[in-house]
Amino acid sequence: MDWFKKVIKGNSGGDGSLASRLQAERLKSDIILSAIETGVVVVDENQIVQLINPAGARIAGWTMAEAVGLDYRSIIHLTDEKEVDYTDPQNPFKQAMVSGKTIVDNNAVLSTKTNQHTPISLSVSPVFDANNKRVTGVVGVFSDVSQQRREERQRAEFISTASHEMRTPVAAIEGYLALAMNNKVANIDLKARDYLEKAHSSTQHLGKLFQDLLTSARAEDGRLSNHPTAIEMGSYLQQLTEDLRFGAEKKGLLVEFVVGSEKTNPTSAAGVKVIPPLYYIRADNERIREVVTNLFDNAVKYSDKGMISVGITGNDKIVQIYIKDTGQGIAPADIPHLFQKFYRVDSTSTRTIGGTGLGLFICRKIVELYGGRIWVESAKDKGSTFYINVPRLSSQIASQILSKEVPTIIFPET
Ligand code: ADP
Repeated sequence: MDWFKKVIKGNSGGDGSLASRLQAERLKSDIILSAIETGVVVVDENQIVQLINPAGARIAGWTMAEAVGLDYRSIIHLTDEKEVDYTDPQNPFKQAMVSGKTIVDNNAVLSTKTNQHTPISLSVSPVFDANNKRVTGVVGVFSDVSQQRREERQRAEFISTASHEMRTPVAAIEGYLALAMNNKVANIDLKARDYLEKAHSSTQHLGKLFQDLLTSARAEDGRLSNHPTAIEMGSYLQQLTEDLRFGAEKKGLLVEFVVGSEKTNPTSAAGVKVIPPLYYIRADNERIREVVTNLFDNAVKYSDKGMISVGITGNDKIVQIYIKDTGQGIAPADIPHLFQKFYRVDSTSTRTIGGTGLGLFICRKIVELYGGRIWVESAKDKGSTFYINVPRLSSQIASQILSKEVPTIIFPET
C-alpha cells in the first residue's frame, strides 16, 4: 500500500488541503473498489501485489491479506484456454509493464488458489511516475466470465444440434425436387418446372446455410474436426486451383497460379517452368481446401470480368497465400466487419448474389486454428486481394512429421 500512497502523495505535491481532499477521494475510491464485482489488482515494478479489492481476491480464491505482498504471478496465475501456464512475455501484466501500453486479453484463464480454472476477461494498464516517463506499476482489471462462456457454449451447442438435425429433411426435400424435375421420372408442365426450379435453388441455399451454421458453431466451440499434417502448399494450391478453374472459366473469368513472382499457367504454352520452393505448413488438408475454395468462390461470385490470381509466396517464417480478383471490390467502411458472422455488404449487387455471410467468418476461424492471420486489401470497383499468412514449417520438420505419420482412416463429419 505504501507504493499506492506514494503515487497519491506524489501527485498532491505536498499541499495540505489538497492532501486532505485526496484523502477524501481515496475514501470514495476505497468504497467503490470494495463494492464493485470487478476484480482490481495493483502490482508494483517488483512484481509484488500492493492492492487487491475484495472481488479480485474472491475470483482468485485468496484473501486480501494473503494476497498483498506476494508475487502477482502466484495470485493472478494465468494460463491459456488449454490450461498451459502463460510465459512471462505472454503475460499481459508483464507486457503492460514493458510496453507502457494497456493490454487486453479476453481469453485468459485464472488458475485459483484451489486450482479451479476460471475464464476471465482482463485489461492491464501501466501506472507512470510523476514525470509520466517510467512505468512504476500496473493496474489489472478483471472479471469472471465463466457464466458468459457457459451460455456461449450452450448457444453454440443448440445451433450445432439444430442445424445438424435440419440438414436431413432439407436433403430429402432437395432430392424429391430433383426427382420431380427429372423428365424420365415425372411429367410436369413448364410453369410447374419454373416453380420447382425456384424451390430447388432455395432448398440448396437452405442446405448451405445449415452446413455453414454447423461449421461455424463447431469452429467457435473448438469441435471442428481437425487432423493436421505437413502440407506442401505450393503443389497443393496449384492442384486446388486446377480443380476450381472450371467454375471461374464458365463465367468467362481467366485464372492464373503464381509462385513467388513467377506466373505459371499449366494450360498456357507461354507458361514459364520454375522449380518452386517447398512451402510447408502444418494444417488439415480438408480445412485448407475449405478456406481456399471459399475465397475462390467469392472471387468468382463478386467479379463479372477479368482474372482471378491464386498465389503463394513466403519467407523463412511464414507462407503467404493470396486470392486476387478484378471484381466489384469492397468499400473501406465494410472491410473491418467482413470476417464477422453473418456480415454481408449491403449493396444491390450483393443482394442479388446468394450467400450466407458465414464463409469469411469460417475462413478466419480455420486460419486462426493454425496460428495464422487472414485479411483483405480492396477498394470499391478495384478488385480485392485476400491474404493468408500461416507459420512455415522447415522441410526438415515437415519430413519428420510425414515420416512419423501412421495412415489413418478419417471418417467424414456427420
Ligand atoms: P457470402 O456467403 O455472403 O459470400 P462471406 O462471409 O463469404 O459470405 O463474405 C461476406 C461478404 O463479403 C459478402 O457478402 C460480400 O459482400 C463480401 N465479399 C467477400 N468476398 C468478396 C470479394 N472477393 N469481392 C467483393 N466482395 C466480397
